[in-house]
Amino acid sequence: MPSKDCHHEVEPACALYAPAASVGIHRARTFEEEAHQVIASPQIQAALHQAAASHKHLCPRQVLGVRMGLLAAELLHLDVPQSDKRIYTFVETDGCFADGIAAATGCALGHRTLRLMDYGKVAATFVDTRTGDAFRIWPSQQCRDRAAQYAPSAPNRWRAQLDGYQVMPAAELLCVSAVELTVNLAALIGKPGVRTTCSGCGEEILNQREILRDGVPLCRACADGSYVRIQRSLFPGSDPT
Ligand SMILES: [Zn+2]
Ligand SMILES: [Zn+2]
Repeated sequence: MPSKDCHHEVEPACALYAPAASVGIHRARTFEEEAHQVIASPQIQAALHQAAASHKHLCPRQVLGVRMGLLAAELLHLDVPQSDKRIYTFVETDGCFADGIAAATGCALGHRTLRLMDYGKVAATFVDTRTGDAFRIWPSQQCRDRAAQYAPSAPNRWRAQLDGYQVMPAAELLCVSAVELTVNLAALIGKPGVRTTCSGCGEEILNQREILRDGVPLCRACADGSYVRIQRSLFPGSDPT
């Protein structure tokens, strides 16, 4: 049954798929694969290879993430994957798509250059932290139909998306707006090395995430309520202070 979860219509989201088989990195292609093979640019191939390796599969959403990340780099005139922290990316959903973006841009949670705005949307905003230039990118509404035109011998829509997304011109695949952030990026990034102790629970708070109530620093859990409730404490010292 076709779902509205369009990019994974024919096969499940994470159908196991030989990493980068469509871009021919790992193994010789069978004749059937050759028949609907597409040749993506070396930069796209490299990013897809990395995204697929971290996931053990390659799917259309990873391709979308890769294409968005590479387009953003082009628009920002920056080289990717970055080895510094110049590009900061807000992804509007998690999953395979976010891995494609991470592979293409080098932005990562671990580098504090990737942030999830959990809107459930396959979209992302890429910011040049030095200039403030920012672009929000999302898939064109027609991208699935257009993909089929770029992968005419694909056996199904999923495969047409997987292949077509790799080679379509960015302007047919994606939509893009120049945007201005309404959040304070400097505050989101915070000052490295700053630590505060929560007056409620005694735990350490990094990155200036404390909330001041009457001048008293509190973690968000103590200030606004936590997303967990304690059932029992296990180790000595695990009890709330
Ligand atoms: Zn996937
Ligand atoms: Zn606390």
